[in-house]
Amino acid sequence: MATISDALQAARKRIDNAARGAARDPALVMLLAVSKTFPADAVRQAWQAGQHTFGESYVQEAVEKIAELKELPLEWHFIGPIQSNKTRPIAESFAWVHGIDRLKIAERLSAQRPVGLPDLQVCLQVNVSGEASKSGVAPRELAALVAAVSTLPRIKLRGLMAIPEPTADRHLQHRRFAQLRELLTQLQAQGYPLDTLSMGMSDDLEAAVAEGATIVRVGSAIFGNRHYPNKENA
Ligand SMILES: *Cc1c(COP(=O)(O)O)cnc(C)c1O
Repeated sequence: MATISDALQAARKRIDNAARGAARDPALVMLLAVSKTFPADAVRQAWQAGQHTFGESYVQEAVEKIAELKELPLEWHFIGPIQSNKTRPIAESFAWVHGIDRLKIAERLSAQRPVGLPDLQVCLQVNVSGEASKSGVAPRELAALVAAVSTLPRIKLRGLMAIPEPTADRHLQHRRFAQLRELLTQLQAQGYPLDTLSMGMSDDLEAAVAEGATIVRVGSAIFGNRHYPNKENA
């Protein structure tokens, strides 16, 4: 089996190739290593191989892992669904939050972000798959959410995130990621200083990078297949 270090190198290589193939600078694509369900020791191995940014989806698991690794200079991104009664530990423990799709969640994160910390960097999750996906703001409701979230203190809106329906259809992968990019471009044209497209996972990162991803969220291609012992603690 490949080591975490080998797998990280292979993932970076995939990103580099996809970026070059699209005439993009690979340095503009951040690899977020999604460590959910994997122990702190796996994160430590990835860090030793040069990885600094990690994504987590389950609050309780993440908070424990972050505490266990607090001597390392890691950057943590929350990428899971957010329940309103779990916003406080997210606001206190993470640098970024990717999956915001309602104003109420953004307001709570804003109110609960500790004053001594840098602004929480956030992306709004957009439902680009229509009926096929339940989470994410509908594209026609995005502009209003962006306008409201942009005014909140202690959080900084950076861009958009999507999790399109899983598909092996490369053409559909490209279409979904292009939709997200076009939404970002429209918002930029309206004057919002947004710079982030969080899109692409282990199975579709090439299409995402080709369509402009600035953060790809890669889990199983780095750490292996997941088992879900902690799901009830999410
Ligand atoms: C788990 C997860 C990932 C990583 O998925 P892989 O297919 O393992 O790369 C990416 N994004 C989100 C939001 C996730 O929950």
